[in-house]
Amino acid sequence: MSHTKELASDDFRQWLLRGELKKETEGMITAAQDQVLRTRYIQRMIGGNNISSICMNCNTKNKTINHIASECPALAENQYQKRHDSVAKALHWSLCKKHQLSCSDKRYEHQPEGVIQNDQAKTLWDYGIGTDRVLRAIRPDVKLIDKIKKKVSLIDVAIPWHPKVEEKEREKIDKYQDLKIETTRIWDIPVETVPIIIGTLSTILRSLKRKQGKLEAGVAPGIMQKIVGQIGSIFHKNLSLDDTSTKFGTNDVQDLLFKKRCASTGESPGRRTDRTESKWLG
Ligand SMILES: [Zn+2]
Repeated sequence: MSHTKELASDDFRQWLLRGELKKETEGMITAAQDQVLRTRYIQRMIGGNNISSICMNCNTKNKTINHIASECPALAENQYQKRHDSVAKALHWSLCKKHQLSCSDKRYEHQPEGVIQNDQAKTLWDYGIGTDRVLRAIRPDVKLIDKIKKKVSLIDVAIPWHPKVEEKEREKIDKYQDLKIETTRIWDIPVETVPIIIGTLSTILRSLKRKQGKLEAGVAPGIMQKIVGQIGSIFHKNLSLDDTSTKFGTNDVQDLLFKKRCASTGESPGRRTDRTESKWLG
């Protein structure tokens, strides 16, 4: 991928290879990352097969991997919104833990309240800020007021198709620029916009790591876990068997997965002994 210099995907790969997903889901995501999924669109355009490749969800666009992962209008309100909220909640939970704010013990049980505060910090969840001027955006996912360091972070999450990660980050900075200026003026405190942008399949801006430092919360593990799980769920719901056949044979993809797992764990690839057929790979 041409954008890999700007992006870090190691964390994502590590989460993918932790063995917490079903083999089929892990294989589907990995095959998509490595661009070996032979979708009906690819079969028609490259293989010349006389088949329809229109997305049955929206009936308008071709059913490509990027369309299903992040660009189908019919999935936006439900499945993409659920993925976004899931990541934003994981982020909110990490911030609550870091600042000893009231929250559930377990991340997956966390339901953010509109306002939570103690003498160290205050979080506003999906909560507009009153301003003198009418602004186009006043409701980032999370606002964090650090009472000790006396600073405010406007945190907003997005999960675009991975080549658009940088573009989306710039878009978020621009979107909240007026709110940042107005909040700084009204509250007389430094305000920073912190976009948390993660590509659908693998990519994380290197600056996300720096942002985690700024937020001083271990947000990465929770976010990675949620992203991996949600992508798997979306693919399972929306890709059928003939969408997920590969350019290569089943065992070629299984070998690819096996080698990656070995590379991440440091064990010798040797010869894989669990060569099996997997239905979804067709
Ligand atoms: Zn669609």
